[in-house]
Amino acid sequence: MRYFSTRDRSVAVDFGRAALGGLAPDGGLYIPETLPEYPAAVKNSLATMAFRDIAFETAKPFIGGAIPETALRDLIEDAYPFGAPLVPVGDRLVLELFHGPTAAFKDFGARFMARAFAYLRRGADRELRILVATSGDTGGAVADGFFGVPGISVTVLYPLGRVSPLQERQIAGLGGNVSAIAVKGSFDDCQALAKAAFGDAGLRRRFELSSANSINISRLVPQAVYFAAAAGKAAAGLSDPDAAATPRRAGAPRPRPNSGGRVVMAVPSGNFGNLTAGLYARALGAPIARFVAATNLNKTVPDYLASGVYAARPSVATISNAMDVGAPSNFERMEAHWSYPELSAALLGAYVDDDATRAAIRRVADATGYILDPHGAVGWQALDGLAAEAATAPELADAVRVVLATAHPAKFGETVEPLVGRVDMPPALATALTRKPVAATISVSLEELKAALGL
Ligand SMILES: *Cc1c(COP(=O)(O)O)cnc(C)c1O
Repeated sequence: MRYFSTRDRSVAVDFGRAALGGLAPDGGLYIPETLPEYPAAVKNSLATMAFRDIAFETAKPFIGGAIPETALRDLIEDAYPFGAPLVPVGDRLVLELFHGPTAAFKDFGARFMARAFAYLRRGADRELRILVATSGDTGGAVADGFFGVPGISVTVLYPLGRVSPLQERQIAGLGGNVSAIAVKGSFDDCQALAKAAFGDAGLRRRFELSSANSINISRLVPQAVYFAAAAGKAAAGLSDPDAAATPRRAGAPRPRPNSGGRVVMAVPSGNFGNLTAGLYARALGAPIARFVAATNLNKTVPDYLASGVYAARPSVATISNAMDVGAPSNFERMEAHWSYPELSAALLGAYVDDDATRAAIRRVADATGYILDPHGAVGWQALDGLAAEAATAPELADAVRVVLATAHPAKFGETVEPLVGRVDMPPALATALTRKPVAATISVSLEELKAALGL
C-alpha cells in the first residue's frame, strides 16, 4: 500500500515512512492510495471474530508488508490486553472505548502506534523525538503508549489550565522519556506550534521529529478496528454483557434487548480522527449505514454538512474539552477521500452545548443508571436531537443506535459528579492521580518552544 499527501499525489511513500513522518513534507496528511476492503469471509464474520483478529485483518492491508505478519500479530497481542465492549443502555448500545490504561479511546491508536514505531525503528541509531499537541486525552495516551520505549522520546504540548487535573498528571507525571510543556494558549495554539516546529530547519537538524496527533496514519488505522467489531455485533443483534469496569449505578434497570438491523453510530468528535477511522471501517465493509458527526459548540463540521461551506474558526472552551477544536486537522483527509455529496450521505451533523450535555448525563443516569462522560454525552444527545427533527426522525427510529463512549466518566469527575454523584475510579486512573506533574511553561512562541526543547 502506498500513501499520498493530501496536497500532492506525486508524493508516494510506504506505511513506515508515512507513520514515522507524520505529516508529509509539503504539510499535507498521508492518505492511502486506495481504501482497502475486507475479504468476504471477514466481512461475514465480524460479529463473532475476536477483537485482535479483526485488528489484524484491518491493519494488514493498510500496512501492506511494512510490518511482517508475525510481527504484526505480536504487536496487536501486546497492544490490546483490553477490548471494546458493546453495552446495552436504555434504547441503544454504548461502545465503551475506555478500558485501556488512560481510560480514553486514544489508547487504541497510541498503543498501536508506539509498538509500530518501535518495530519500524529497530536498529536505528539516532533518537526519535515525538512532538504531540493535545487538548487533553491525546497527551496522556501517547505518553503512556511510548513510556519506556527505547530510542524514542516524547514531548507533549498542552494548553495551560485547560486540561483536567487528572489529564495533567497523565501527561506530565510520567517523567523518563516523556516531557511536558504547558502553553499559555488554546489547543489550536499548541497544534500550530507543533506544526511550526516540524517546519523548522534548526529543530529538524537537531532531532528526528515525528508527530503522534490524530493526523498520524498509524493512529487512525487501529481506530477503525472497534468500529468494525461493534458494527458487526450491532447489525447481528449482539452485544456484550456488562463489562466489569462499566460505570453503572447499583440496581440499575435492565436495558431493552437489541434487535439488530441498520447501524447508526454517533461519534463525539474534535479533530475528526476517530470519525475518519470510522469511515475507513465503513469502506472496509463494516455494516455502518450512517455516522453522526457529533460536536460541542465547536461545530465547524456540522456547519459544513449543513451548508456545504467549510469555515475553520478559533476554538471555544467547553466541558467536553477533548473536542474543543475549531479547525479539525483530519478534515483535510476526509475531503481528500470523499466529496461533499459522499460525506453528506455518510454523515449526519449535530452539535450539543454544555447545558444540553449536562442534562443528558443526568437524564441517562436517572433513566438507566449508566454514567456517561461529557464527550459520550455529546454523542448520546446528538442522536436525541436528530431523532426529534422531522428530516432524520424516521431514519433513526428503526436503526440500531450506537454511541461511542470515548472516555471513562471518572476522568471528568469535576463535571460529572455534581450531576450524578460519586463515580468509581478505575485502578489505572487512581494510580495516575498520585503522580506529580512536572512541566515547563511557555508562551505561544516558536522561539520559546525551541528553547524548551534545548535549542
Ligand atoms: C480526542 C477525544 C475526542 C475527539 O476525537 P477526535 O478523533 O479528535 O475527533 C472525543 N472524546 C474524547 C474523550 C477524546 O479524548
